[in-house]
Amino acid sequence: MSEGPLPPLPEDRLEKKLPDRKPPLSRHEALVEADRCLYCVDAPCIPSCPTEIDIPEFIRRIATGNVEGSAKVILESNILGLSCARVCPTEVLCESTCVYNEMDEQPIKIGKLQRHATEHVYDEGVHFFEAGEDTGKTVALVGAGPASLACAHELRRLGHRCVIFEARQRPGGLNTNGVAPYKLQADDAFREIGYVTEIGGIDVRYGKAVGTDVDVADLERDYDAVFVGVGLGPDNWLDIPGARSDDVWGAVDFIERLKTDDGYALPEDVAHVAVVGGGNTAIDVVREMLGLGVEDVMLVYRKDEATMSGYTHEWDYAKKEGARGVWWAQPAEIVADDEGVTAVRCHRTEFADGRLVEIDGSDFEVACDLVVMAIGQSKLGAIFGEVDGVSLDRGRIVVDDHGRTGNSHYFAGGDAANGGKEVVNAAAEGKRAARAIDAQLRSN
Ligand code: SF4
Repeated sequence: MSEGPLPPLPEDRLEKKLPDRKPPLSRHEALVEADRCLYCVDAPCIPSCPTEIDIPEFIRRIATGNVEGSAKVILESNILGLSCARVCPTEVLCESTCVYNEMDEQPIKIGKLQRHATEHVYDEGVHFFEAGEDTGKTVALVGAGPASLACAHELRRLGHRCVIFEARQRPGGLNTNGVAPYKLQADDAFREIGYVTEIGGIDVRYGKAVGTDVDVADLERDYDAVFVGVGLGPDNWLDIPGARSDDVWGAVDFIERLKTDDGYALPEDVAHVAVVGGGNTAIDVVREMLGLGVEDVMLVYRKDEATMSGYTHEWDYAKKEGARGVWWAQPAEIVADDEGVTAVRCHRTEFADGRLVEIDGSDFEVACDLVVMAIGQSKLGAIFGEVDGVSLDRGRIVVDDHGRTGNSHYFAGGDAANGGKEVVNAAAEGKRAARAIDAQLRSN
């Protein structure tokens, strides 16, 4: 049980070898960039942020030298503003709607300005928030990832005490274990968690998996409300011959080891890596492998780059770093000899009558010595689907716009409810759910 210091992170983490791909602005650069903002009325950048930060206002405060006040605007809307400044796909969120795009000019660097402001108050040790007057109510939160942290912080501001049950021995969920290290490293995620929990009254219990170490029925009996922010589970796997070889890794498992294992290193003889998938996690793995010096890294995807679900801008960066794509390729077998994996045998695919089909007799091999499965993650909410009134849709916990399930005791947010979105979505959903929990508790 802990309301005290965070558990230590190992010093010798492989992620430290990966550079920060979006380095911070200097004070001068931030002032120049802030001065470009047009402080639009009805600024389109605001609603494109899931946490609806008043972007022109925080930028205006930077421009006038009030960096502390700028961070306050950001953190009032999004207590995870530090990590979101680093991990948000601003290219498709706030910056994509900046009016400068319509003038064929570079949009304002909103993410970098947000990083400038939030890092300033972290560096200076400035805190803005206090716990509300104690209501005598306590909320259980399941999972110590972004959704639960945002929810807990808001609940504390509203005066409710919080107990977070975390299956791992460390907090942070995706931010600590799963975000690409060239965006955010685990110690920065911990820095933010320290800042969030500084408000007090958030008790994180590590090594407590709900369903194994703690019963759902106990949570219902012992707490005034339950928020489920468990995120997603282990990697999905292709059920094809050879897929359980030691040389076939799971993407999120690899990223977690890279970010948090002590002394973890790639095998020295890895030279050709095939990453199976076309989403953002697949692209992250590609860029990480290239950043760690692997000579040849490719995406193996059953469609093409025009239809992949990963962000175009991220794939463009990956290509500049040396990645290549093997398109229209459906893996059918992982081929190995006595030394280990040698190739992925694939069927060629195509669209026929609107359906993706495999082409007969089209088999080909993609030579590689390591395969990484990046085809999605399993869902973790099943245990809550057994609760009266809580329903699931394809493994996701069904909630309304305020994170309410069909049982007035249970709320949910983040990946467990949205199926896998961004950290900023988890932050927004956690905070919204906190307000719905507060309304529920005050109505009892
Ligand atoms: Fe500033 Fe662009 Fe937002 Fe307008 S749309 S307020 S220029 S960041």
